[in-house]
Amino acid sequence: MKVAHFRFYAELNDFLPPSRRFVAFRESFEVRGSVKDMIESLGVPHTEVDLILANGESVDFSYLVQEGDRISVYPVFESIDITPVLRVRPRPLRQTRFVLDIHLGRLANYLRMLGFDALYRNDYRDEELARLSCEQERILLTRDRNLLKRRAVQHGYCLRETRPRRQLLEVLARFDLSGSMGAFTRCLRCNGLLEAVAKEQIADRLPPQTREHYQEFHQCASCGRVYWKGSHYQRMRQFIESLG
Ligand SMILES: [Zn+2]
Repeated sequence: MKVAHFRFYAELNDFLPPSRRFVAFRESFEVRGSVKDMIESLGVPHTEVDLILANGESVDFSYLVQEGDRISVYPVFESIDITPVLRVRPRPLRQTRFVLDIHLGRLANYLRMLGFDALYRNDYRDEELARLSCEQERILLTRDRNLLKRRAVQHGYCLRETRPRRQLLEVLARFDLSGSMGAFTRCLRCNGLLEAVAKEQIADRLPPQTREHYQEFHQCASCGRVYWKGSHYQRMRQFIESLG
């Protein structure tokens, strides 16, 4: 049996049993394996990892762990300055777009409400989610660690919170999004973009009360759904203000 020493930093410790959190620990192994496989076997999805040091040198996921190695593993967006050393993925996704697993419908709705590109369907299968994340460079949001361990997934995030409103706050904080919200620019039903539309063009589709009281309308460029600033809008405003 060979032994390597591992130390995980910051929120990566969420994935470890208590005795292994925030300390260096020994891990025995028989066959030399890639550092990616060893990190995942310890419970941490590779999508959470941004930097790996082996004996102080940055290495990529394919690095083969050796007897006696000291491996330090850092999360995405760790605040210490790691720019001079190599990160395991080419670059963070600056155009923040998401694809969400089938359990996160409410969160998808909230993200769309704030204008974020959030792909969601309640019938996506795991391999579709992984493929969409890869092909469209979307951050895969899920609470399922195994989903994030799929090879195709480059950018993902494992939500810690279980309640949708808290999940939204978690995502906004994690990806530093509070400055890039564009509330009421996206369709809640299909994720399409909204554009202003003249009342005459859609008047025949409005309930009589709405036709009488509202003048300003937006329409989804993808599915055609019409939006106006009715009571639903006021409730969403309140919700957004409550996020602080
Ligand atoms: Zn739509």
